[in-house]
Parts: sequence; C-alpha cells; structure tokens
Amino acid sequence: MRDGVFIAGAWSTGAGADELTERSSTDDQVIGSVQAASVDQADRAVEAAAAAFPEWSATPRAERTAKLHEIADALEARTDEFAELMSREVGTTLSISKAVQVGLAVRVLRSTADAMDELSLSEEDENFVVEREPIGVVVAITPWNFPLHQIVAKLAPALASGCTVVVKPAELTSLSAIAFFELIDVAGLPAGTANLVCGVGPVVGEALVRHPLVNMVSFTGSTAAGKRVGELAINGVKKLALELGGKSATVLLEDAELDRAVPSSLSNCYLNSGQVCSALTRLIVMRSHLPRVEELLIKAAQRFVPGDPLDSSTRLGPLVSAVQRDRVIEYINIGIAEGARVLVGGPARPEGSGYFVTPTIFTDVAADMRIAQEEIFGPVLVVIPVDSEVEALAVANNSAYGLAGAVWSADRDHAVAFARKIRTGQVAINGGAFNARAPFGGYKMSGNGRELGKYGLEEFFEYKALVY
Ligand code: NAD
Repeated sequence: MRDGVFIAGAWSTGAGADELTERSSTDDQVIGSVQAASVDQADRAVEAAAAAFPEWSATPRAERTAKLHEIADALEARTDEFAELMSREVGTTLSISKAVQVGLAVRVLRSTADAMDELSLSEEDENFVVEREPIGVVVAITPWNFPLHQIVAKLAPALASGCTVVVKPAELTSLSAIAFFELIDVAGLPAGTANLVCGVGPVVGEALVRHPLVNMVSFTGSTAAGKRVGELAINGVKKLALELGGKSATVLLEDAELDRAVPSSLSNCYLNSGQVCSALTRLIVMRSHLPRVEELLIKAAQRFVPGDPLDSSTRLGPLVSAVQRDRVIEYINIGIAEGARVLVGGPARPEGSGYFVTPTIFTDVAADMRIAQEEIFGPVLVVIPVDSEVEALAVANNSAYGLAGAVWSADRDHAVAFARKIRTGQVAINGGAFNARAPFGGYKMSGNGRELGKYGLEEFFEYKALVY
C-alpha cells in the first residue's frame, strides 16, 4: 500500500474508507494500491496550502520558476520509468508515453516557467496601475487520460504565479501522481506549497472544492462531474476553470489533399486509443469524396492492431479500465443500432484479459446520431458525408461541445476562413501540430477558461488597480 497523501511536506497513508487499486490495462494484473484520503485530510491539505501562501507568493518569481525547471529536469531524467508506468496505467503506447505523457509534461513545466518570466506584473494607465496578484489557494482536480500532463497544466501555472495548490488526481492514476510528487518533495518547495490527496472524487474532491479557504478550482474531466464541481465552486464564489469533454470534427474541404488528410485524421482520432478530450472523432467529408475517403481509411486502419503498449511496434494499446472498454463497446453497438455502416472493426473484443477494443470506423453517419453527438472516449471514428461547405460548417458546429477541430484545404486562406467559423477553442489547419504555448480550452459545454502558455497562466491571477 503506497502513501497517497502529501501535506505540508510530509507523506502519510490515506485515512478514507476506499482502497484505490490500480490494474494494468494490458493484462488486468494489480500494479499497486493506495488507501484513499479522508475528508479530514483534504481539509488539512487546504489549510497547509493557505498557511504556505504568504511565503510562496512573496518568493521572487525567478526562484519560483527555477523550481519548475528543476522539477522538469528531474522528470525528464526519469522519462523511461514514468512512461512505462503510465503505459501500464492508461494503456498508452510506449513511444507516445515518452513523447506525450512525459515529454509534454516536461515541456509545459518549462514553457509555463518561461511565460511567467516574460509576464508583465504591473501596467500603468492614466491615473492607475494594474498589478497582477496570485489568486491564492488552488484546488486542481485531474482526469486519468494524460495523468501527468493534466496535473502539470494546473500545478505549473499555480506555482509559477505564486499560488499554492492541492492536487486531487484521478482514482485510476494515483500511482503516477505519487511518483511525480516524490520529485516535488525532492525539489524542496516550502512546506505546504504543493499538496497531494489521492482519493475519491465525490468524497475528497467535493470536500476540497467546498473548503472556504480555497480561492480557485481548476477541474479537468467529464462534463457531468464538471457541472457538479462548478455548482459547488460558484456556491462558494470561487474562481472556476473547467476543461471538459469534446466531440471535435475534422472537415475535409472540396480541395483537401485526401491522401495526407485521411491517415492524419485517423491517427489523431486513435491517439491514446481515443482517450483524448480533443480527439478529432468526427470526419466530415464531401459526399463525392466518400468512396476515396473510405478506401484510404481502410488502408490507414490496418496499422492500428491492438497490442501490448510496451511493445515498441504497437500502434494501439488497450483502454484504461474494463468500465471504459465496456462503455466503448456499448457505443459501437449503439452505432450499429442507429443504422450507421461499420467500415472497419465492430463490437467484438480482441483476445486477452486486457481492456482492448477493436478500433472502429463508422461511415454514412447522420449528424444527429448519438455516436456523432456523444463523447465515446475510445478508438471510434464517425464519417459524416455532406453535400456542401455550408452544410459541413453546420455539421461541424452541430455539437454541444466546442474544444477542438481541424480543416484541410489546398488553399490555406480558405481553410483559415473556414476555421474562423468553427466554434471551438482550437482548430488545426492542414495537420498543424499541437503547441504547448497555444491556449487550450473549450467553447460551449467543453468548459470555461484556458490552459497552457501565457493564456493559461493569466487564469491564476487577480488584477488589482491602484488608483492615484
Ligand atoms: P471524471 O469526471 O470522472 O473525473 C475527473 C476527475 O474528477 C477525477 O479526479 C475524479 O475523481 C474527479 N471527480 C469526479 N466526480 C467529482 C465530484 N463530484 N467532485 C469533485 N471531483 C470529482 O472524468 P474521467 O473519467 O477521469 O476523465 C475522462 C473525461 O475527462 C472525459 O469526458 C474527457 O473528455 C475529459 N477530459 C477533458 C480534458 C480537457 O482538457 N478538456 C482533458 C482530459 C479529459
């Protein structure tokens, strides 16, 4: 049993009722166990963060950002170990674990430190000066799909800005959170600056959000849990940042280079076995292109054979849990019942005890089907044919969500003009690569606020006007 509670610089065992048992996604074997924290421990973590705030917020920013670089260096030095752990926890293939699960967390630690170094903390205008002050105690509640990155996307700007923080990681990925906090422990931040409580969302998560000494809640997870967290936070008039679900669309315009766009869209959709909030899970294509697109998809899908994520040749690992696997298979059955045509895959489970599903592509999907509207969070792509660009835009925006998107066209200006009309927080043009300095976050039910870079950092400040 691992200690899953780090408060005021000291480790302890959770005192809650639940045991959080982690199983390997690949073979269902137990890989570790953590006793969940109690509500009392959650309260003490907040009190420790509140007590540490005066000292940490007064620490020169260069010292704060130096600590982030130190933690980034320590994490990078242990890339292999962390990558393997998250491949077991989440099912991410090892190369993606190294590049994204660990590599992105390292990049975000560094780029947030750089953004803080560059941020103007005081601006003059007429008879007033505006100063940025750290907001105070931050509660960070995170999901399991990119466990370390999600923690870092909140913890790095909190610490850089001078806030103190309590992290509540997802139940399914406590082990990687604990390993990361061991690095924070070694970095020697003042006691109480960064605290960890591994525990159950509706128990310790809610206790943290309710606590009167908490000034800001930054939550990433499902829209359902986000709404609940939002209600509690607003009830306490706390600053709220929400990163929620998505159902993002790729649009292939008339002159899109299909040979490049189609495999790229499928790779994006299947990244981390589809367990990505910004995954491009809807492919909107001109009806005249449909036969060629289907041909290219069948070919591209052949590379995604489910297998052991620790085997370097595997392109598609299992899902995080049996619950998630069964949920995805249920959605595949829903798609069939709704009358969508299975182009690739289907509901049959691959052999083995791991949480594998057969990667699936539906075609001839209608925009209002459940598989085209609801977040599946697995390797399932839906292809929606349309007859015009006007219809393509209407279908792209026919979503409760608004997180990400993609547009392909041989005419870059045309693609950009189209991208501007998509109601989402980010749109990739002709396969544009993810950048950790660009703001990330959603319109509509995908959330409030932004993470990453200087835009994410801004969320952690209050503005104070001194008027002369
Ligand atoms: P989840 O909502 O079940 O859990 C997320 C976190 O919230 C966990 O730490 C959980 O313990 C906690 N939680 C759950 N109920 C709570 C409550 N009542 N009060 C306080 N905390 C609570 O989500 P998940 O299953 O871990 O993650 C998958 C979901 O997260 C997907 O819907 C996905 O789209 C979303 N997600 C969004 C982003 C983004 O940036 N927009 C990133 C990753 C994942």
